[in-house]
Amino acid sequence: MISGASGAGKTSVAYRVLEDARFERAVTATTRAPRPGERDGVDYHFIAEAEFRARWAAQGFLAPAQVYGDLYGTPRENVERIRASGRHCLLVIDVQGVEDLKTQDVEGLYVFVDAPSFEELERRLRGRGKDAADRIEARLAAARAELEKKDLFERVLVNDDVERAARELAAWVGVDDLVSKGRA
Ligand code: 5GP
Repeated sequence: MISGASGAGKTSVAYRVLEDARFERAVTATTRAPRPGERDGVDYHFIAEAEFRARWAAQGFLAPAQVYGDLYGTPRENVERIRASGRHCLLVIDVQGVEDLKTQDVEGLYVFVDAPSFEELERRLRGRGKDAADRIEARLAAARAELEKKDLFERVLVNDDVERAARELAAWVGVDDLVSKGRA
């Protein structure tokens, strides 16, 4: 499980690790609109709120949550399929989701991705230009609260450099020779 403060780069680290075919991400379902460049079924399963709520009621999601006004949840069958395939299943979720998984006794290595400093986190959040100013303030406030929950995690991964951090993460689950696309 990869989690961490918004802007710390958990998605970048996750995508780097996922270039190696020994890892697969459990794609999350969400009701939020796709951002430019995001693909349905790859970045997220983009679904309507009514469908989300029905699947949620039927216990279809691990760690369902409302994050910044949108609904997110990881379909259970995605995780089960990946685990059955023998690959390392990567879940990239918010800290609230991790708290949920822990109460459900979901086994896994819980990793908190952190920026080298809070100043750097703020710089990254403002720099990525994905969100409007009010959303950035909300994400900064959330990041402060998330940082206080670091103790929930088995490991803290400092994302000073994506390649280095991805290698460290892979080594923690026994993959010492992380490959990238093209070389795989
Ligand atoms: P974004 O909209 O920026 O892609 O994601 C917002 C937040 O929702 C991120 O922190 C992301 O990790 C989290 N998230 C994605 N999928 C899930 C999920 O299945 N459950 C929970 N609880 N959070 C999720």
